[in-house]
Amino acid sequence: MVRTEKLVKRFGDNIVLNGVDFSVKRGQAVVVIGPSGSGKTTLLRCLNHLEKIDDGRIYIDGQLVGYREQDGRLVEDSEANIARMRSQIGFVFQRFNLFAHKTALENIIEAPIQVLRQPKDEVIARARVLLEKVGMSDKEQSYPHRLSGGQQQRVAIARALAMNPKLMLFDEATSALDPELVGEVLKVMRQLAEEGMTMVAVTHEMGFARDVADHVVFMDKSQIVEQGTPEQIFSDSQNERTRNFLSRVV
Ligand code: ATP
Repeated sequence: MVRTEKLVKRFGDNIVLNGVDFSVKRGQAVVVIGPSGSGKTTLLRCLNHLEKIDDGRIYIDGQLVGYREQDGRLVEDSEANIARMRSQIGFVFQRFNLFAHKTALENIIEAPIQVLRQPKDEVIARARVLLEKVGMSDKEQSYPHRLSGGQQQRVAIARALAMNPKLMLFDEATSALDPELVGEVLKVMRQLAEEGMTMVAVTHEMGFARDVADHVVFMDKSQIVEQGTPEQIFSDSQNERTRNFLSRVV
C-alpha cells in the first residue's frame, strides 16, 4: 500500500533520509524505532507530503505522493491533489493539536463536514461511535484544556478516524504524555492494529513495538538498518547497531 524508493531528504547539508526503501502492506502495523535524530519523524512526514522530498519516490496505492510526472521529470502536485491525498491519511502528532476553542465532539466533526461535505447529523452519529471507541463518550462537550494529555490524544485519534482514513500515521503519539497516561493511548492504537487498520507508528515504546507490530523497522543515521518481525528484531537481530540500540533502550 505504501512504498518509497530511494527516498532522499535533506535539511541544508544534513541528509536526514539517505536512500530509504520503505514499504507497508495493507492491514499491517509497522513500527519504526531508532535513536533520536535517525530520521523516523521525517520519514513519516514525507509520507503525506508534510515535508518535500529531494529525491526518490513515494507511492500510496500505486499513486505518486506529492508529485506528478511531467515531461519525464517530477513536478509538485497541485494543492487540491495533495489535500485529497492527505484527507485519506490520518496523522496523529506528538502534540495533540486539537482546536482549542472547540469541544471534543466539535473537533471530530469539523473535517468530515468542512472537507468531505458529509451531512452533519450522520457525522455527529459517527463521531459519537468514535468517542465511545476511544473511551471518551462522557467528554464529548469538554474543551481540550479540560482534558488530560491522554484524553486529548484519544480525541485526536478519533478525529483522524472520522475521515475514514486508509492509513494512519502516528508520530511519537505518546512521547509528550505523563507516564501514567501512555497506556490508555497505546491501548487505542493496539485496538486499531488488531482491527486491521494499516498503520505506521514511530515510537520509543519498545513493549508496544514488540507486542503490536507486524513489522519493525530500525533506523539509524538516516537509513533503514534492519527490518523484520518483532521476533527477528528483538530476539534475533543480525545487526550490531540494532543490538546496541536495543541493549540501551529495552
Ligand atoms: P526523535 O526520535 O528525536 O524524534 P527522529 O529519528 O524522529 O528523532 P527526525 O525528527 O526525523 O529524527 O530528525 C532527523 C534530523 O533532521 C535531525 O538531525 C533533525 O535535527 C533534523 N531536522 C528535522 N526537522 C528539521 C527541520 N524542519 N529543519 C532542519 N532540520 C530538521
